[in-house]
Formats: sequence, structure tokens, C-alpha cells
Amino acid sequence: MARAWFFNIPFHGHINPTLPLVRELVSQGDNVTYFAGPRFEEKIRATGAEYREYAGPYTFEQSRTVAHAVHQGSQVAEATSALLPHVLESVAEELPDYLLFDMSAPWGNIASQRYSIPAVASFPHLPFNWRTLLSDPRVFRKGWDSLKPGRGHYRELQRRTRNLAKDHKLRKAREVNVLSSSAELNIVFSSRYFQPYQESYDNTYQFVGPVIDTKRPDEPLEIRRDSEQSLIYIAVGTVYQANITFFRHCLEAFDDDRFAVIMSVGRAVDPATLGSIPVNFTVAQYVPQLAVLEEADLFITHGGMNSINEAVMALVPMVVVPNTIEQAVNASRVEQLHGGRYLEPDRLTAEKLLRATEEVLADPLVPPGLELIRQSFLDAGGVEQAVIAIQDLKLRHGLD
Ligand code: UDP
Repeated sequence: MARAWFFNIPFHGHINPTLPLVRELVSQGDNVTYFAGPRFEEKIRATGAEYREYAGPYTFEQSRTVAHAVHQGSQVAEATSALLPHVLESVAEELPDYLLFDMSAPWGNIASQRYSIPAVASFPHLPFNWRTLLSDPRVFRKGWDSLKPGRGHYRELQRRTRNLAKDHKLRKAREVNVLSSSAELNIVFSSRYFQPYQESYDNTYQFVGPVIDTKRPDEPLEIRRDSEQSLIYIAVGTVYQANITFFRHCLEAFDDDRFAVIMSVGRAVDPATLGSIPVNFTVAQYVPQLAVLEEADLFITHGGMNSINEAVMALVPMVVVPNTIEQAVNASRVEQLHGGRYLEPDRLTAEKLLRATEEVLADPLVPPGLELIRQSFLDAGGVEQAVIAIQDLKLRHGLD
């Protein structure tokens, strides 16, 4: 029985796809200890893993407001500085047989290299390298923009990674990758087909497809639509706050009885601040997305990985309006593979939204495009394939 430690960060999108994997590792006899924030204790214990909290005073909550990749990287560097001494101390004391860590938890990578412990990285977002930026001028612009408003953040990121490397005697390039930390085995919860520049990722990257929890306990929602109306679903995920202007564009674009619209604005936006709501709209702070996607004809999304995966599996075409660089990569990929359109948020108008929606609904390439992406997800092997790859890694290291 191997002893595994999993280091994650306390966000649904990073933790959810790993839970069925951990459940399977436990059922095959591994003893898994999982580090995350207290909000996730119950869910983690339900897999049969032991839950542990990170030692020390660091709290992740501030990262919820992070606006772009550079700022996020800078926060990961800060978290790494705070957590690393505790993580290294407990790993040295208990020497687990192998480690798992999220792509945004480089302390797992550092501990693995420091103590020569085999490791697996978990990628709930697509892995990223500099070529990814060149895959689409809009992605490049988004990358550039994410440096611009954050010049301060960029300097902060450099300063923090430099200090981290110095304080802990790390090889900066190999060990301190704060945005996309990789390992000897990398489990990506998407497909090779969906990955831009897939040839840059060798067989240490196992693309196992999305893992979607279809049994989550969501409150039901009554869907109001006439049979001849197209159902448009609009949502922006749970982390980044969309600005009110985005929702106002939506209200203007779809104030039209050809459509029934469900708009999820997120917990940070009070629907009362949106002004008058057309009668064909249902506006809520959170809706049961999987159930809504079952009925929807089109999804206007911020392009979070889970939202993209869920829409593809339900074969719902998308108009993607991405906020962050990784969402921009997803948006570009959706468009290239004929799953929908990419619209840039800072150039958005109600007219553009309506036009893109009409084009996507009428595009004959979209249904087969979505079907191909969905098939690539189904063919990727899921949790079973991830477990096979982890068992191989254990065998190579003489663990059973
Ligand atoms: N979600 C939901 N109802 C909502 C908004 C979001 O159920 O009203 C779920 C959605 O199904 C997805 C997750 O929240 O599983 C959002 O994840 P994603 O990666 O798309 O975006 P993030 O929240 O990480 O930006």
C-alpha cells in the first residue's frame, strides 16, 4: 500500500476533477493524504482520503479577486514562500511514497525534487508554454494586456520568484514555475485534440479528458421558454467578477422574443443593480448549470475550463468572452475547432453579441465540430486512464 500526499489549492475548479481520481486510488489500496482549505474537508474525506490543512497562517482567500495571470503567478509565489517551510518539514518527517500536486501548487514540485520523491502533476487547465501565446493574435494581445496593467505585478512576480529561489536555494527555471508546474507524470483533464500545439507535450502528459461530477446537489431551476424560442444561457463562472457592462450588453442584445435567456451573474453582482430586466430573461446569482445546458441552444461563457467541458459534453455551441489568458486560449480553441466564436471583452457591444449568436446558431460546421471535440473527450480514457498512468509511475519506482 503506497502512501500518497496530494497538494492542492482551495478552489472548486482545481479540486473537483481530482476527487474521482483520489477515490479510485484509495479504492485500489493507496493511502492518500490531501492538503487543501477547510471548505473542502468534507468532500475530500468522502473520497476515503485523509484531509489535512496546510500548516502556518497563509490564507488563499485573497486570490479570489486576482485579475490576470501575472498577478495570479505573483500570488502563487507568495503562497509558495509562506507554505514551503512547513511543507518541506512535514514531507521530510513522514516521507510519503509519491506526491500529487496541482499545476498551481509548486511547493509539491519543490518537495518532490528536494527529497527525490516521484510526483504527478494535475492540470485542471490546459498546460501552457510560450508558443501558446503565438497560436492566436487575440491570445497574444490578452497575454500582453495581462502584463500591461500589472507592470507592478510583473515586477512583484519577478521579485517574489527571485527571493523564493534565493531563500530556498532553488534552481529558478526548473523548480519555481508558478503558473504551470509539471512533474514526471502530468494528468491533463482535457484531450490532446483540444490542446493547442499538442506536439510540444510528450508522453509525460496524459490527456485523460474532463471529469464532470454529474451528481452535484444543485437547486433545481424552472426554465421558462416557448417552444419556438432559442434558449440562451449566459454565465461567467465563480471566480472572476464580470463587470456590469457585460451583463448590460447581454440585456440589450437579447431583449427580443425570439430568445428565452437565463443569465447567471455570480454571487458578487446584485441583480437589482442591472436596471430593468426584459420579460424573456431569468436572472440569478447561481443556477444549476448542468441542467440548464441540457436545455440550452447556445452558451455565452467566460470560457472557464469546466464551463467549456460541460458545454461540449452537452453539445451546446458557445460564444466565448474570455477574461484571463487561459480562458482566451480556450476561446481560441473553441473557435478553431468549430465549437463557436471568440469575442474580445473590451471590444464587446450588444450588436456583436447578437451577430455572433446568430452566426453560431446558423453555422453548419458547429454541430460536427462540437461532436468531434466531445468524442476526443470520451476517447481520452478519463479517471481509469489517469490511474493506469499513475500505477505505471509507481511500478517504475518500485512502489505497489
Ligand atoms: N456554475 C454553476 N452555476 C452557475 C455558475 C457556475 O453550476 O451559475 C459551475 C459550472 O457548472 C462550472 C463551475 O461552476 O462547473 C465554473 O467553473 P469554470 O471553470 O467554468 O469557471 P471558474 O469558476 O473557475 O472561473
